[in-house]
Amino acid sequence: MKTGLSLEEAQSLLLSQAAAVPTEQLALTQACGRVTGKDIASAENVPPFDRSPLDGYAMQAADMQGAGAECPIQLSVIEEIRAGFTAQKKVTPGTAIKVMTGAPIPEGADVVIRYEDVKREKDSLFIFHELNKGNNIVPAGEDVSKDEVIVRQGERLTAPRIGLLAAIGKAAIPAFNKVKVALISTGDELVDPSEQLQVGKIHNSNVHSLGARCQQLGAEPLYFGIVPDEKDVTAERMRQALKKADLVITTGGVSVGDFDVVPATLKQIGADVLFWKVKMKPGSPVIAAQKDGKLLIGLSGNPAAALITFDLLVVPVIKKMMGLCQQLPMKITAVLANDFAKESPQRRFLRGKLEISYPTNRIRLTGNQQNGVLKSMIDCDVLIDVPAGSGPLMAGQKVTAVMMENVLV
Ligand code: AMP
Ligand code: MG
Repeated sequence: MKTGLSLEEAQSLLLSQAAAVPTEQLALTQACGRVTGKDIASAENVPPFDRSPLDGYAMQAADMQGAGAECPIQLSVIEEIRAGFTAQKKVTPGTAIKVMTGAPIPEGADVVIRYEDVKREKDSLFIFHELNKGNNIVPAGEDVSKDEVIVRQGERLTAPRIGLLAAIGKAAIPAFNKVKVALISTGDELVDPSEQLQVGKIHNSNVHSLGARCQQLGAEPLYFGIVPDEKDVTAERMRQALKKADLVITTGGVSVGDFDVVPATLKQIGADVLFWKVKMKPGSPVIAAQKDGKLLIGLSGNPAAALITFDLLVVPVIKKMMGLCQQLPMKITAVLANDFAKESPQRRFLRGKLEISYPTNRIRLTGNQQNGVLKSMIDCDVLIDVPAGSGPLMAGQKVTAVMMENVLV
């Protein structure tokens, strides 16, 4: 078992042990937020034919030569077509066909003039200016060309991708299954939010913040409730969770206190411990183990520490399991908007809010940075990465931060 890893070592060790879940065929209506299981190429052009982008008249550009405000050119209208239908006749010199938005360009025509720019009298049409060949014609394949790959394996199925899949005639696509994440809360002091608090007890918030994060990611949280700080009960709950879930997350009980039973329980169920303790604050006493090819990760119980270590260590693992090709968060540099008075003997992540501004982006601290303060996670979209050995931070100082807001990317 390794101990005292850097965050990056812990992330890559976990990622090396995680594998994508199987794929299933999914209807587009069910696909939002899921991840594509295979590259998808278009079998056809979108649009499939040259079409008119406006209501107007299709004709030959050569016929418009010499047209002017004082010397209109007269053509005869031989047919009218609307979207969804094709012309029966061909456009020949001296003729025009009225077309509605979305209608296919009739054979023989090479330009469309706007309805508003012509004068119509019975079957006669008067043109007052010239246009060039190809004007106001949307070519076949403008959006997608035949054989073009429009969605790649490992990409999130977002609104535009789902729309494009529909446009190329795919009603269902292979997508990775939802990753099932079991959540177990350990702690004698915990009670469900629906229950009245007795003296010394607190409401279990971790299961809900982490469960909600799973849902934001597109994973499925499985709620395995609260266990007391007892090895046997915790072991039994871990075994049940391993049967049902792809990944098991516990909170609480990972430190070195008398009742921190998670490390010993992992050994009791025969899990292989990969590492314990990561060099970072908050949440350093995180433990990771493996059993039956599945990962179990024990996070600190402090509500902010639990969510931050979930975001930094567990989210990349879930992303890999759900098939996403992009797993680690992006980093940015920005300037600190306020002071942080404490020294940081250990590497520390501070909760901040990115403010897009000129000439440099700024990060405002979101409030009290204590491990147990969840409120300062509310506006947090970046975690400022403060290197070990840093002194107090000053407003105006350049910092590096990890972007948290792109959970759905
Ligand atoms: P632990 O990691 O078990 O040492 O817990 C650290 C702190 O987090 C203690 O104050 C716990 O009461 C608190 N805590 C642990 N689990 C939870 C939870 N599920 N929800 C809210 N607070 C918790
Ligand atoms: Mg505890």
